[in-house]
Amino acid sequence: MSTENRYIHNALKQVHVETSATSVSGFSISGLATYLQMPELDFCVDLGECPLSATSINHVFLTHAHGDHARCLMRHHSLRKMMGVERDSVYYVPECIAERAKDWIRAEALFEGVPENKFRLPTIVPVCANELQFLEHRKDLALEAFDVKHSIPAMGGTIYHYKKKLKDEFLQKTPAELIELRQNKVEITREVYDPLVSFMGDCMGESLLDNYRVFQSKVLITECTFLSPEDESMSVKKGHSHINDIVRALNELGDGVKCEKIVLSHFSMKYSDRYIRDVIAKSIPEQFKEKIVVLL
Ligand SMILES: [Zn+2]
Ligand SMILES: [Zn+2]
Repeated sequence: MSTENRYIHNALKQVHVETSATSVSGFSISGLATYLQMPELDFCVDLGECPLSATSINHVFLTHAHGDHARCLMRHHSLRKMMGVERDSVYYVPECIAERAKDWIRAEALFEGVPENKFRLPTIVPVCANELQFLEHRKDLALEAFDVKHSIPAMGGTIYHYKKKLKDEFLQKTPAELIELRQNKVEITREVYDPLVSFMGDCMGESLLDNYRVFQSKVLITECTFLSPEDESMSVKKGHSHINDIVRALNELGDGVKCEKIVLSHFSMKYSDRYIRDVIAKSIPEQFKEKIVVLL
């Protein structure tokens, strides 16, 4: 293995991306580990590895049960306790695997020798598709998950910024008039949900168009496991995306792609850094090139 590949395959060596919605720090290589920390949103997608920087994050979403995305849930929980963080992190988990997640966490604790009577489950919140829920410790942010197609049940999600805005018809009013309207119980504001970040988790390429609303988010993080032409059939077999699927979705939506940044992640281990960057540079249509960020 080349030096270059040793570097891109070190799961604790984080990649940092700045966007107008949040910074993203993490790592994502297929089969090795995926975790994406968004400190400004107090949110982390997946925990295939758990660097110390993740321990301050209070909300974690596990997209699916594959070990390279989920295995450090208990490590995260335990490290926080070890570091004296009293508040429990909230772990959002697809509803269909929530009970199994609890069994797994209990088994892991017993394996480590925690007495049954001392065992306490971390906060697991089952997540259903297309239901909006506010983050436990960030009431200005709401999570909406959606189903994606993968080799096992899996979800992606969107984080919305929630705010109340003055209704258009009241924009010209003076503060005194607004106070009076309020006193007369007139509803002067409307609710706005601004899509900040969407993440796809592991999915087949068609899940992008199935959930085309993700292209309205400021930032879209999507997997791009396979790149070479001969791997296109493999991507379908394994339930992953191929770069051609992403190009197809972009071309189909055209100006409907509102994202400022599209972060490509989760590349197969068999590709080198240079190969990944070269194929992406050659494949992405000119119109979208500036939006693309390679998570390496
Ligand atoms: Zn994966
Ligand atoms: Zn997977």
